[in-house]
Amino acid sequence: MTEKQAQKFLVLMATKFKIPAPKLIWSGRATRGTANYYQYSVTVGPKCLCSTLKNILIHEFAHFLIYQRSNCAEPCSPNGRITPHNWQFVDALIDCATVCYGNPAHYDWDTEYRSIQASINKRFPEWKIKNG
Ligand SMILES: [Zn+2]
Repeated sequence: MTEKQAQKFLVLMATKFKIPAPKLIWSGRATRGTANYYQYSVTVGPKCLCSTLKNILIHEFAHFLIYQRSNCAEPCSPNGRITPHNWQFVDALIDCATVCYGNPAHYDWDTEYRSIQASINKRFPEWKIKNG
């Protein structure tokens, strides 16, 4: 996925969920995706290796979805960095995966954080995702 495609993808998701599109920051140094509420931005780049860029963007976008769902009351650190991956986040991620893949089981849960995998395994054991 190129920078332009990533930008388009965020706009498309934002349109589907009727929230403002986060700004894309394309960084040659980023090795993982990050979301920042204060800048309202998602940082990714070609060096993000642990997952596909699409998956990373879906994950980061889900942070903005709960942020908007909580009327921007979602807690974050003083520099605007992100919340815990709580159940509201997992719900938002499932919604994003549903929009992107039709069936949320098709999202690449194997690359997610362990706490998210554990939460998914509990709720949807039939998806048979790896844990850890
Ligand atoms: Zn996250």
